[in-house]
Amino acid sequence: MSRTNQHTRAKEYSELVERQKGEYCLVCKITPTTLIQLGRDPTLEIDHINKDITDTRIENKRLVCKTCNNKHDVERDFLENDNELFNISKDYENKARIYLAARMNEEKAIEKRGISADLAMHIDSSMQYSRNLLQKLTAPKEGIYRWESRDGVTYLTYKAELKF
Ligand SMILES: [Zn+2]
Repeated sequence: MSRTNQHTRAKEYSELVERQKGEYCLVCKITPTTLIQLGRDPTLEIDHINKDITDTRIENKRLVCKTCNNKHDVERDFLENDNELFNISKDYENKARIYLAARMNEEKAIEKRGISADLAMHIDSSMQYSRNLLQKLTAPKEGIYRWESRDGVTYLTYKAELKF
C-alpha cells in the first residue's frame, strides 16, 4: 500500500468513525475492544456497501470486522435495515427477551444457527425483524447478550456470563 493510500485510508477511517458515531463494525456492532477480548483480530476494514469498489463515495463505505467482511454478500442489506434497528417495538423486544431468557435458562448458550428462525416463529415476526432484534440485543453498548464462538460454532450468551 502506498503512502498516499495509507493516508487516504486513515482519513477515511476517521471520517467513518465520525459518521457511524463510534468505532465498531456496522454489521455486527462489535468494537475493537471486544474483538481483542474475544481473541480475534481487532482490525476494522473499510467495506464498500454496494460491493462496487469503483463507487468511492463515503456514503458507500462502512467499517466492518473481518468476519463480517468475509461474509459480505450474505449480509449486504444490513445497513438499510439499520434504521429499522432502532424502531423495534418494545412489545416485540419484551417477547424476545422472555423467549431468549427461557431458552438461555435451559441451554446456557443458544447456538446462533437457527436462532433467527426460532425467534421469528415465536414472536411471530419476519426473519429480518428477528435478525434486527438480535442485532439490537447484542449491540455492544445497550445489548444484554453477545455472540461467542467456540470450536467454530457461534452462540448467544449473556454479556456478563463467564467464557466457556
Ligand atoms: Zn462484524
